[in-house]
Amino acid sequence: MEVTPSHTQAVSGWAAMDESGKVVLFSFKRRENGVDDVTIKVQYCGMCHTDLNYINNAWGNTIYPVVPGHEITGVVTKVGTNVSGFHPGDRVGVGGIAASCLDCDHCHRSEENYCDKMTFTYNNISSDGSITYGGYSNMLVADKRFIVSIPDSLPLDAAAPLLCAGITVYSPMKQHGMLQGEAGRRLGVVGLGGLGHVAVKFAKAFGLHVTIVSTSPAKEREARESLRADDFVLSTDQKQMQDMARSLDYIIDTVSAQHSLGPLLELLKVNGKLVLVGAPDKPVELPSIPLIFGKRTVSGSLTGGMKETQEMMDLCGKHNITCDIELVSADKINEALARLALNDVRYRFVVDIGSTL
Ligand code: NAP
Repeated sequence: MEVTPSHTQAVSGWAAMDESGKVVLFSFKRRENGVDDVTIKVQYCGMCHTDLNYINNAWGNTIYPVVPGHEITGVVTKVGTNVSGFHPGDRVGVGGIAASCLDCDHCHRSEENYCDKMTFTYNNISSDGSITYGGYSNMLVADKRFIVSIPDSLPLDAAAPLLCAGITVYSPMKQHGMLQGEAGRRLGVVGLGGLGHVAVKFAKAFGLHVTIVSTSPAKEREARESLRADDFVLSTDQKQMQDMARSLDYIIDTVSAQHSLGPLLELLKVNGKLVLVGAPDKPVELPSIPLIFGKRTVSGSLTGGMKETQEMMDLCGKHNITCDIELVSADKINEALARLALNDVRYRFVVDIGSTL
């Protein structure tokens, strides 16, 4: 493993060393806390499907060893001399972005997520040449501009997935006007996993009518009873899908596996919008007929900017929106990864880093 000279702080974490799909204990170094930096004792880290994809090299761009984790919550232990907004003891979170150029049009609009030079929290090369390592580790040094405050009302474990799952659905919901306007507009959430279940929670908090489109009949009862979904459609049942034709204003597609957008587009009204946030390792199918005949729009969205992330976190504090999680100890990460691959989680694993690593 290459070591950057300015990286002197010893950290314990979990890393995948190869494509075997497993993580192992891993010691590495992080940079000293710089003038703009905040050091965080990591308490919890959510397990995003993206972690699984990097661990397995599903997208073909994994830099091993990879320390996953970009749904990080913890407590500040140290701040640099230029940091005024955070203090030791503060409860904070870090999501998918570690750095950006801070000087382009996107950065000026706090759309750091679309900056050309954006650096991801893990599996990316930093400006000092080092590889970024994520939150499956006991300590993180983060730039003050890429940290959010966690409201006191939110528990650090159930808030952790908001840093990726939450902001990834909140950002397009806001951009496409789903959270504004009259109540009763109809949203379809495709895939009831980590991202999907938070989309349902935001939608219900903002008065939308929510239809879940799922491959898992076993999720229906809980989706209706505890997530308060209005409708539940099995995407594998053609009759159920036909009965819902032209009924939705918007769709958020969070599916992690290859699929066709055709049957989903048929669910949209004329002019309806489908936002793709799921990132399967193989291309999704986009047939032209349902797109053309309904004048429908398909778009994509990548996580969210920092201002928007803080705004979402504050809204969650106000509306008491947290994630439904299964807390696992650090030595059970591999079991959780195996279950995540089998779509066996309600709805997000969160690793208890603080008390078990
Ligand atoms: P997840 O918790 O595993 O949920 C994905 C859901 O997709 C599953 O719960 C399942 O829902 C559905 N699904 C799984 N296999 C399927 C199949 N073969 N056919 C149809 N549906 C299937 O994953 P996640 O953490 O929410 O992430 C979802 C996707 O978003 C991943 O591809 C991830 O990499 C990506 N992602 C993108 C961004 C971004 O910035 N755009 C950020 C984070 C994650 P049902 O059981 O209800 O069918």
